[in-house]
Amino acid sequence: MKRCLLSLVMSLALVSVYADDSIPTVEELVEEQVAQEPQEPLRFEYRNDTLFVIGDAGILPKYVTVSASTGSNTYKRLFKDMGIDEGDHPSDSLYGFTWTHNWVNPYKVPIDSMPDSLLVDMSDFVMPVKGYITSHFGMRKTRYHYGTDIKLHVGDSVRSAFGGQVRICDYDPRGYGNYVVVRHHNGLETVYGHLSQIIAEPNEWIEAGEIIGLGGNTGRSTGPHLHFEMRYLGNAFNTEKALNYTNFEPKDSVYLMTLKSTYSHNAELKAMKAAKYITVKQGDNLSVLAKRHGTTVKKICQLNKIKPNSIIRIGQKLRVR
Ligand SMILES: [Zn+2]
Repeated sequence: MKRCLLSLVMSLALVSVYADDSIPTVEELVEEQVAQEPQEPLRFEYRNDTLFVIGDAGILPKYVTVSASTGSNTYKRLFKDMGIDEGDHPSDSLYGFTWTHNWVNPYKVPIDSMPDSLLVDMSDFVMPVKGYITSHFGMRKTRYHYGTDIKLHVGDSVRSAFGGQVRICDYDPRGYGNYVVVRHHNGLETVYGHLSQIIAEPNEWIEAGEIIGLGGNTGRSTGPHLHFEMRYLGNAFNTEKALNYTNFEPKDSVYLMTLKSTYSHNAELKAMKAAKYITVKQGDNLSVLAKRHGTTVKKICQLNKIKPNSIIRIGQKLRVR
């Protein structure tokens, strides 16, 4: 409670200090960041070519000047240029000094409020496993597949894609299995799932290409493979947009990340979140269900890839929205 009060008083003070729209000095920024507790979710707003990173208290914890039209800077460089170092962990400023060992995405930044565009440094990239893709990023029946699955053999070395610090080493029996999450200097986080053995340790600083675990088949997996994810501010995107899986190199030494192209799957995600599933009960047929859920037989057929004359049986799961 005391803390809340203190931060409220501080926010009021900050608001009044910056009320004249002046950009704070580097010293003020650093002081402000030290005083702030990590806040989430973060929001991004462009105002007159200035990107404001805004915490949930509604104040402006960080000011970064970036041209919205060019978007030609990585955050790392921006913060560095402003004399703010990374803090205790890679890309600390970007992540609001949030560093946890249990949640893959503790940041909860809505995709809609991600930056319009920025460049991600790919120059030190190393392919975690050199293998062919067995399953792509994208929509599954009732869930979303946030990674790229790469073929490997149990026991193969799995390497960190970039340098950085290990954030999570954990076991998720119904999903990732044994998995590792690494935070990188370029602002990305990468996830490595289904490992047979984890070699890295939480908080360990690692180089690009360093072995973090051995390939396996743990968790929700039907054969040995690496489930590999790239995330920015917690939001996963298709690694194939930035990587070439034929020569195992990045497509370019910098990846131009944009809200429109990098997160083009946002609409799919929204549809998935809005989706509604029902279990067929006695007396139900497609037209009864359509009426009950305010939709049409045609729409239900599309969603479930069935025909209007398909027989539905009691206990069957159907998507109605
Ligand atoms: Zn996967």
